[in-house]
Amino acid sequence: MSQKLLSWHNKIFDNISKQYAENKMPHAILLSQKMSECAFVLAKSIAQLLECSNPRINNENTLEACDECSSCKKVKEYTHLDVHYYFPIIKRKNKNCSDDYFQEWTDFLKLNKEIIEINSWIRFIDAANSQAIISAEDCDRIVNIAQESSYEGKYKIFIIWEMERLFHAAAPKLLKIIEEPPANTLFIGITDNLDLVLDTIKSRMQIIHLPAPSPEESVATLTELFNMDNADAQKLVFNYGNNLPRIVDNIHKDNMPILINEFFIKWMRLAFQMKAYDLLDLATEFNSFGRDIQKMILIQCSQYIDAIWLINHNIPTALMLNELDEKFVQDFKKFIDDDTIPEISIIIDEAIKNIERNGDSKLIFFDISLKIGQIFKKKYFLIRV
Ligand SMILES: [Zn+2]
Repeated sequence: MSQKLLSWHNKIFDNISKQYAENKMPHAILLSQKMSECAFVLAKSIAQLLECSNPRINNENTLEACDECSSCKKVKEYTHLDVHYYFPIIKRKNKNCSDDYFQEWTDFLKLNKEIIEINSWIRFIDAANSQAIISAEDCDRIVNIAQESSYEGKYKIFIIWEMERLFHAAAPKLLKIIEEPPANTLFIGITDNLDLVLDTIKSRMQIIHLPAPSPEESVATLTELFNMDNADAQKLVFNYGNNLPRIVDNIHKDNMPILINEFFIKWMRLAFQMKAYDLLDLATEFNSFGRDIQKMILIQCSQYIDAIWLINHNIPTALMLNELDEKFVQDFKKFIDDDTIPEISIIIDEAIKNIERNGDSKLIFFDISLKIGQIFKKKYFLIRV
């Protein structure tokens, strides 16, 4: 079996493979994506090709990894000593850099079959409300490792996921090494927001814009990687605006019994109208789910609110919004501004904590629904005045 590539990456992979075959590999590339392009999968495929001891020519006349040699196996299992991963983390006791999170990282990749997004990673390491960054320690490590020789005698590869989250003060350390790396070193950066990557870094890397998958390609990916049947996959692709990482993230939510986007819209409308009896019914429904699911529902609702606030500030956030009804977003965004969002966030965070402490979920949900309704009411009167 040959190395797996996602169909919409083929062309870019072919180009890179040609450059490699002709000995013209750039030393630093930056894969730019918007939401569902799955750049990490491509980065790892490139790493596998470069480390493979026995690459071969396929039918399209492209060099590809053999997928069988021990190097290929190690890259696939994240154990190759010359393929290094850096990604945003939060500092905790005994955890200061990406390596300290390596176990969580590989669990996360395996669980999601490498179709990953940052919000899901942040939740995975339980870092909601903290600013996850690529740490200064990681920048030091990159510089040090780049100067050492490779373990297996081939390429040394640095995959840096979410480059826009590079700790700014530490970035200058990287400039020189990215500009003039030792031989046989490749930096593969990935970003969801090219505008936020420091110009000094960007200018030293070859930027590659990844195309998004078509809905058909997303459906095919879901059926193949997650053994989903075609109709289910189509429904998800439609419901989640063809955003593969968000779909994959949701597949793992214990077969989530409801569509959270629909729940969120219903909840916010009822809260605004202060329909106590209907809110009580909704609280009963909420209470019928397990605590983990209750928490996930609230976390995702909170993310929807953040996304709406971002729209109000003209910050592009394709992520998530296409899951919501456009009219709802238009109606609702008046109530999500700098005054209301801190209050609402605190209320929801507090509720999540109380659910974790085994509080009465029905009461908690009913209570925050009324509180959020009051915030909307207050805002509504202010707007009218
Ligand atoms: Zn191989």
